[in-house]
Parts: sequence; C-alpha cells; structure tokens
Amino acid sequence: MKILCIGRNYADHIAELNNERPSEPVIFLKPDTAILKNNDPFYHPDFSKDIHHEAELILRICKEGKYIEEQFAASYYDKIGLGIDFTARDLQSKAKEKGLPWDIAKGFNGSAPISEWIDISTLRDLNSIDFHLNVNGQTRQKGNNELMIWNFNEIIAYISTFFTLKVGDIIFTGTPAGVGKINIGDRLEGFIREKKMLDFEIK
Ligand code: MG
Repeated sequence: MKILCIGRNYADHIAELNNERPSEPVIFLKPDTAILKNNDPFYHPDFSKDIHHEAELILRICKEGKYIEEQFAASYYDKIGLGIDFTARDLQSKAKEKGLPWDIAKGFNGSAPISEWIDISTLRDLNSIDFHLNVNGQTRQKGNNELMIWNFNEIIAYISTFFTLKVGDIIFTGTPAGVGKINIGDRLEGFIREKKMLDFEIK
C-alpha cells in the first residue's frame, strides 16, 4: 500500500506558512513504514528540532483505479479516519530553499499516525465533517472539509491521473491552520466530530 498526501489544501494553513496558493494540488508520498497505529507512542527522532503536527482527514481506497473521473470518485473510498502528517519543518524548509524533494521531512518512521476507520455509510453529511486536534488538552487545530480548496473527489481524480490507486491505499487530505511543534511528553488527541479517534503520546 501507499500513502498519498495533499499539501496546501486549506487557505488558512497556506497563509500561516506564507506559502503560495497553488494552481494545482501539491502531492507527496510517504512510505508504509511511516504508519503508526493503535495509538502507539511517537518516538521523537534526533534529526529534527522542529517536528510539527498536521491533523488531517484521511481516506481509505476500496477499489483499484486510474484516470478516475471526478463524478465517479466517491465510489473509490469507503472509510474515513484521522491522521497526523508529522512534518520535520526544519528539514522541509531546507529542502524548499534548495528546491529539493521533501521525502525525509515528510516520510520518516512514524510520521503518519492513523486512527481506526469509520465506514462512510454511517456518516451523515460527508461534505461537512468537523475535526480537531488537542495537544495537552488544548485545541490547536480545527478543520472542516467544506473549507478545502480541493474536495475528496477532486483529490482522487487528480491523484489517479499519476498514480494508480489500489485497495488499502490511504490519502491524507491536507491540514487546516494551527500546525505547531510537538515536544516530548505531549499528549495528542484527535477527534472527528465528537468521536475521539487518536490519543497518543510523544516520547
Ligand atoms: Mg499535511
């Protein structure tokens, strides 16, 4: 399986990092070794002094496809969850300055904690899903997919132009404003609506 991520999908987050608003989605990948499950702790690596949390809605692909048309994209995912796109912001900034790839800044071990899945058939109103992330009990990030620049179906259509989607692939759909540094000892709790999806520690 592979993990496909979209960057710069919420205007408020683009503004907080002083990024340009892209004319097309920004796509990057993480390897399967980035996945962290079952609320296992995240062990802070030494190679970065500035790892940021990016809370994101994630989609699970349920059908193989490429060149998927937007109007059919909704049948290609069956579950939704919450993920954290951990980003070594210091390494990413260095790479950006030099025009180099982001792989080590985005794809390191444990950089993709994911929740259990919610079957989308059990969710009311897929176009307006509130989610939020608390760090040590304080809400740091709040989002709703209706504020995305590119919605789920547009993301799937775009990504599948370049990458064949396979069953079990995961899509990270972008983060809203409020990203920030994590520290050893922090407790991260993530919610979709009122349901707690993530609860783990930084060690
Ligand atoms: Mg992200």
